[in-house]
Formats: sequence, C-alpha cells, structure tokens
Amino acid sequence: MQWETVIGLEIHTQLATQSKIFSGAPTAFGAEPNTQACAIDLGLPGVLPVLNVEAVRLAVRFGKAIDAEIAPRSVFARKNYFYPDLPKGYQISQYELPVVGKGRVEIVLDDGTVKTIGVTRAHLEEDAGKSLHEDFHGFTGIDLNRAGTPLLEIVSEPDLRSPAEAVAYAKKIHQIVRYIGISDGNMQEGSFRMDANVSVRPVGQKEFGTRAEIKNVNSFRFLEKAIAFEVERQIDLIEGGGTVVQETRLYDAVKDETRSMRTKEEANDYRYFPDPDLLPLEIDDAFLTEATADLPELPDAKRARFQSEYGLSEYDANLLTASRELADYYETVARACGEPKLAANWVSGELMAALNKSECEIGASPVSASALAGLIARIQDGTVSGKLAKQVFEGMWNGGGEADAVIEAQGLKQITDTGAIESMIEAIVAANPEQVEQYRAGKDKVFGFFVGQVMKQSGGKANPAQVNEILKRKLAP
Ligand code: ADP
Ligand code: MG
Repeated sequence: MQWETVIGLEIHTQLATQSKIFSGAPTAFGAEPNTQACAIDLGLPGVLPVLNVEAVRLAVRFGKAIDAEIAPRSVFARKNYFYPDLPKGYQISQYELPVVGKGRVEIVLDDGTVKTIGVTRAHLEEDAGKSLHEDFHGFTGIDLNRAGTPLLEIVSEPDLRSPAEAVAYAKKIHQIVRYIGISDGNMQEGSFRMDANVSVRPVGQKEFGTRAEIKNVNSFRFLEKAIAFEVERQIDLIEGGGTVVQETRLYDAVKDETRSMRTKEEANDYRYFPDPDLLPLEIDDAFLTEATADLPELPDAKRARFQSEYGLSEYDANLLTASRELADYYETVARACGEPKLAANWVSGELMAALNKSECEIGASPVSASALAGLIARIQDGTVSGKLAKQVFEGMWNGGGEADAVIEAQGLKQITDTGAIESMIEAIVAANPEQVEQYRAGKDKVFGFFVGQVMKQSGGKANPAQVNEILKRKLAP
C-alpha cells in the first residue's frame, strides 16, 4: 500500500516583550528560579491581569506578515487543567476568537518549487512555568519565572506532506518572526517550540487518518527525525493490523523514537470559557496601522526581488534571504562589485562554508561585505584567478586584511604578461617533443597536459585565457 503523510504544526513562539503578557514582571531569560514571577503570574486570589499592549502589537505584526485577517475583536479564554507548573489551574489563551485569523506562507522545496501553506490562526497566550527534574535528589522543582511569558501560538493547516516540508514551513515561520522582530526565535532557550501533528492515509483516500501529536520539539533536525519516525511507526502499526490512537507523544532524541505520553485531551476537557477578568481585545485601524507601519521587506518579497533584480535562481534567492543579516550582507556585496551572480556564489559558497566551519554568525564575519566585494573585483579585473581567489579569501578570513594585501603578501597575483607566459610555454613545448607530436597527430586530449604544465610552473597564476590562446598558437603544426 502507498501511504501519504499529513502534517500540521503548532508553533509556540515567545514574543519579545520586556514584561509578561498580563503583569509587569520581567521576561528576561536565565534569572534565578522564582525571582521573576509576581502575584499575577501565580494567579493568587484577588489579582487582576492587565493586557500588555506590546504583545498585541507583535501579534498584529505577525498577522500582517502572513497576509492574515486581524480580528477586530478577539477574546481571552481560560484553558483549565492541572499541572504543577501552572499554579492557578488555568492558562489564559485565546480559543474561539483568536487575534490572527487565516493567513498563508510560501515555502521553497528542495527542487526549487514553491508551495503555499495555510496558517489556520495565531493566538496570544501565556506560558506556564517549568518543572526542573535535575539536581533535586529525586525531587522535582518548579521554576515559575516563565509563567505569564507572552506566546504567540501559530497553527498551520494540515497542508504539509513530508518531514522536509514540515521543516521548510517551520523554518519559514522562524524566519518571519525574526525578520519582523517579534521574537528572538532562540530555540535553546525555548523561545520557539514546535508540536507536530502527524497522520498517514492511503494515497487517494480523502479523509485524514487519526493523528498523533509530537510535543515540544526544539530543533529543526529533531522535527524532521521525529516526524519521519512517527510516520514509519504509524504505517507499521496499520499494516500490522493495528490502529493509530489519538495521543500526545514525546520525541526522545537519544533513542530517536517517539513515545506515548498521554491520550489526547479533547477541547471540552479543558472547559474553555471567556476569562471574566479580561475585556475582549479590540483592535482598530489606527492601532493596526501604527503596529505595522515599520514592517521591513518580508522574506518572500525579498526573495522575489533578489530573483528579478539580481537574476538569481529561486533556490539561491531563498538561501540568501534566510535571515535579514545574510540578505543585507549579500546585497552589499552584489551592489559593491556589480556582479550579483558571482557575489551569490561567493556568499553561499566560500563565506557560508567558513561561517559554518567556525560556527560564526554573519554579523561577526572576519571578512566584511565590502572586503568580499573587493576580492570579487580583483577576480573580475584579472588580478587573481578564480581558483587562487579562494586562497586569498582564506588569507582574508585569517586576518590578512583586504584582498590586495593578501594577494601581495602571498604573491598570488595573476600573470598576465603575454611575454612571460609565452616564454614559459615555449620552454614547456621544447621540453616535451613527444606530447607535441601526439597533439599534432590529432590527440586533442594532450592539450590538457600542456595547460597543466603551464599552471604547475606558474603556481596556478598564469591567466587561463591567455594560456589557452598562446598554447594553441605554439602547438599548431
Ligand atoms: P486541537 O484542537 O486538538 O489542537 P486542531 O484542530 O487545532 O486540534 O489542530 C491542531 C493541529 O493539527 C493543526 O495544525 C492541524 O492542521 C493539525 N491536524 C488536524 N488534523 C490532522 C490530521 N488528521 N493529521 C495531521 N495533522 C492534523
Ligand atoms: Mg491545538
């Protein structure tokens, strides 16, 4: 049987506000446990939550960025459940009326095709605290610093059809929230957490299969592996005569498997009801305009522009717009050297490899955009060959200064003096009479041998075009 995978993601992204969503307590990460939770975050009797308008502003920006309807009126609801990290017994969230309605994003697949993924909704809610299982001699500690931290939960349509598509979508959301500055997206600190709903169905079947939800995945690599494992598990289960039960599962990265955590609650288990302490959230046009006035160029628009303005492929444009910093860097190089395609090759090739290798952020690159443009200009004007330019780049990366300084210091200047190349070639031709004969007898391949000799003797510095031209002339019968 052929199976089709169906995936929908729920992504919790922490909004970059200074204070909590319903209190004035700070949201900064890494404070001593329980030093940043106030009476409101704990839901002590008699306290009243007050909505942080900054969280609303950030949610609205996201709505605009995914071309969604912003609800003129949305409602905060209580989601009731018991858990030690939720002392007040309910989480304030949005249920029936979320602030951000239906929107869409585009993902670029590996083969360069574009697919539109529906976003069902995005709603504001507060985070819970954290249970700390380590260092307590078998006890569990509760840290409530995170309680009340603003989250935007972004729910996708079940439009994703493979682990790779799910990752591309998650990366897209991550990219957007960072572009528009509503979240730092820091995955290690839990600012961007993904739940994957996964089901399978026979190819051609219209109804979706029963889904399992994999909770709290905090890396793209784990997301891909967790979904892949889950798909296999479900297919094996069904093909073995079993049925998938709707449940919540956890991904264990060490064992690379998902494990059942609990059977899935239904919405009515939570007994949602409008929070009587909070007024409905009303957003008017003036607020909307103000909140979105300074939105930057969005990733999809930038990608399209990079294609039309710089003649880049969908794939390259997608790669180079992954973050604003990278896109800005690329544009600076492309404009300064006037060679957008060459610039794309250098940024996505040599530069990215060097950054990855030394785990360096682009903002801290030892080779600045203008310095890289300077190197590309030296390839263009023939000072250095494309091949040796990589050596120049390495020198620049390791603190050798601008391209010219490295070329000078390492003697990598291309030899373009026709006389010098000619005499070098004459000597090589004279020293290899056998090969000359073979070539003249019609063995064209021998030409490569001569090119190789010249390059070897010149330390790779002879200008290839000139070498070709002169060799042809000297070898002609
Ligand atoms: P719940 O209220 O239980 O969270 P939702 O209807 O809000 O369920 O859906 C949650 C997520 O699950 C959404 O991202 C949705 O696209 C996805 N989803 C729903 N049904 C399926 C399914 N059969 N297979 C895969 N994903 C699904
Ligand atoms: Mg849900």
